[in-house]
Amino acid sequence: MSKCSHAYAELRQRAWVEIDKAALAHNVKEIKQILSPQTVLMAVVKADAYGHGADTVSKTVLAAGANWLGVATVPEGIDLREAQIEAPILILGAVNSPEQLRAIAHWDLQPTLCTHQQALLFSDVAVEEDITLPVHLKLDTGMSRLGTLWEQAAEFVQLVEQLPNLQIASIYSHLATADDRDPTVMRQQHQRFEEARAQIFTVRGNHRGFAPTEITPILHLANSAATLTDKALHYDMVRVGLALYGLYPATHLTSVVDLKPVLQVKALVTQVKTIPAGTGVSYGYKFIAEREMLLAVVGIGYADGIPRNLSDKMKVLIRGQLVLQVGAITMDQMMLDISTIPDLQPGEVVTLLGKDGDIEIRVDDWAATLGTISWEILSGFKHRLPRVYS
Ligand SMILES: *Cc1c(COP(=O)(O)O)cnc(C)c1O
Repeated sequence: MSKCSHAYAELRQRAWVEIDKAALAHNVKEIKQILSPQTVLMAVVKADAYGHGADTVSKTVLAAGANWLGVATVPEGIDLREAQIEAPILILGAVNSPEQLRAIAHWDLQPTLCTHQQALLFSDVAVEEDITLPVHLKLDTGMSRLGTLWEQAAEFVQLVEQLPNLQIASIYSHLATADDRDPTVMRQQHQRFEEARAQIFTVRGNHRGFAPTEITPILHLANSAATLTDKALHYDMVRVGLALYGLYPATHLTSVVDLKPVLQVKALVTQVKTIPAGTGVSYGYKFIAEREMLLAVVGIGYADGIPRNLSDKMKVLIRGQLVLQVGAITMDQMMLDISTIPDLQPGEVVTLLGKDGDIEIRVDDWAATLGTISWEILSGFKHRLPRVYS
């Protein structure tokens, strides 16, 4: 990751994120195993590949069999092109300015098209740049985020087709509750997507509605959860984020494929000391040692992406043993009660997430403690932590 190459000098001197490329490739293969041969895999690498480093992750997953990349923003797409990545890249977020559109044209990225107004803008810029711009029509089937309402799908397609220099590369939608054990809403969204498809292709005449000389748009609907839930949701492409990184979108989906976590977070002990009984630890003295206590200071904090709300609630691994974190987690450091490891030395490795010996601390454990989702935790690790790839 170029953004923190300067930090390589201090590699393993404070704190870092370890990325297991073999696990990433393994996850791609596992996911591909449940896809039909005609369904392609889009690796969703937005938000710096969910904190794993978009450049290396993209290269690794493409080599392992992913076909497309999905990012949220135009600059994220440009970063991948600058890293010499040639795979097709879909911008999943909204694009509303001519400057962004010109960058898309220049860098050979592909935009999502959600509204009539955007269609006019996209067409204007494509004409001006003298290119045929592939566009991906987004339908809102119930997420109530980006997209044209599914009921207006056929109208929207017709409108886009009448505009010069646009080519509809795909038609897609996004599911709101695919990770829910109750499939009701997902089934309704699927049904609406099917209705939109029927409308579009009826208007157009032939089986998929597009003349043989035209490029028929592909269809896609599934995120990780839907990909693991039901093959009927796969269509021509699946857009997989979380599962690539080895996490399950829901506990009821863990038996479908064998995913391996890709990321570990580690830091070093920077100081060891004994404090007397009754001594307060860290800002606010939320923790008071009830007895004489051996403490370790560790060089990682909330500015690195360790949620401060884990203060006094998290355990970490040292020498394969679970150890309690005590006192408020500070911006750059935190403290541990290491009474069970009396000979601990500065410089020893602390595993905050990942495996040490037989014990593994998983992102899902943090998510459960915090009442949040693993997506938020993964995308929260900051660039101050160098990514170390193995
Ligand atoms: C982020 C995103 C995905 C990937 O979702 P996961 O649950 O991480 O697999 C797929 N599609 C769209 C439109 C997204 O924004």
